[in-house]
Amino acid sequence: MITKAKIWLSSPHMGGTEQEYVNEAFNTNWIAPLGPNVDGFEEAISRYFEGAVHTAALSSGTAAIHLALKLLGVVHGDDVICQSFTFSASANPITYLGANPVFVDSEKDTWNISPELLEEAILNGIKNGKPPKAIVAVHLYGMPYKHAEVAEISNKYGIPVIEDSAEALGSSVNGKKCGSLGDIGILSFNGNKIITTSGGGALLTKDIEIRKKAVFLATQARDDAPHYEHTHVGHNYRMSNVIAGIGRGQMEVLNDRVAARRYNYAYYKKRLGELSTVNFLDEPQGFSSNRWLTCILTPSFKIREKIRLELQLEDIESRPLWKPMHEQPVFKNFKSYTDGTSSDLFLRGLCLPSGSNLLEEDLDRITSLILKTLNQC
Ligand SMILES: *Cc1c(COP(=O)(O)O)cnc(C)c1O
Repeated sequence: MITKAKIWLSSPHMGGTEQEYVNEAFNTNWIAPLGPNVDGFEEAISRYFEGAVHTAALSSGTAAIHLALKLLGVVHGDDVICQSFTFSASANPITYLGANPVFVDSEKDTWNISPELLEEAILNGIKNGKPPKAIVAVHLYGMPYKHAEVAEISNKYGIPVIEDSAEALGSSVNGKKCGSLGDIGILSFNGNKIITTSGGGALLTKDIEIRKKAVFLATQARDDAPHYEHTHVGHNYRMSNVIAGIGRGQMEVLNDRVAARRYNYAYYKKRLGELSTVNFLDEPQGFSSNRWLTCILTPSFKIREKIRLELQLEDIESRPLWKPMHEQPVFKNFKSYTDGTSSDLFLRGLCLPSGSNLLEEDLDRITSLILKTLNQC
């Protein structure tokens, strides 16, 4: 029997010019944090956002969230609201500062932060004399959160939004690009994201002063002096000039990558969408998802697991949806506002292989196996 190649959930997909930019760094011996590739990568990102944001390229998306919280004045003992249905990196940096995450459940239209529960959490905080300092909202799997509602609540109570756009570069709401919707936006270029630098991230802001402060904090908070003078605790969070070269090449193919991921979603929906046992998350009016990962909802945990294990036997990687933060042992002592939505999504949902480098025959192999498995249920 010929063994077929493993199909990954989401693997890196180089465009071709990345290596030239990396070689440039080698040829000029610019093997350091900062340099022409970092400048070029930041310019390419700001250009993609049509000048709506200034960009600071950083070592990771997690580092970007950490700096965003700091720049918004979050300190020890503060409460920070965080979408519960997300990857742990949305919440971890809150605890780096000694602040307390307050988790808020999702609504069913986008699977992202529920505006109703968000307002309830804020009102409760105010009532207890402790209004939350910031809101971390996430465009999970590339689907934008309800931006209009979240922005209205943010404005009403004067609480800034950190827009975790790690999974949503290339998504938009009513033509406005994700990453530029919050007070501070963050991107990730980790290996599994829509474009990658192997590891990396960025902080996006409309305010050039905030960008300047982010870069200052990310480069060890070195004050202006001939010697090393420090008035702030800094971090080593800047991006390397070598990997920024990969980012420059990847920005050139971003639109193709989004198109390929959206094609995957359309393919899965066409082959599986008629079944009563498989549900997809459609885009609300005006919302455009980069479809970073295609997710399906099955009728039960049992059926979800059966599909996942059958795929695994054929060397096809799939993954349950994110386990909500309020259910994670590490966060069990923090407050949460929940209504069961994300717990249910976690039990019944599955992420299907969604790389932009999947072949038509891969998609056929995956969907045929899912159809066969569901026929046996
Ligand atoms: C990947 C991811 C991050 C963290 O980004 P890194 O670059 O891996 O540190 C944060 N939030 C979400 C939702 C992510 O998916």
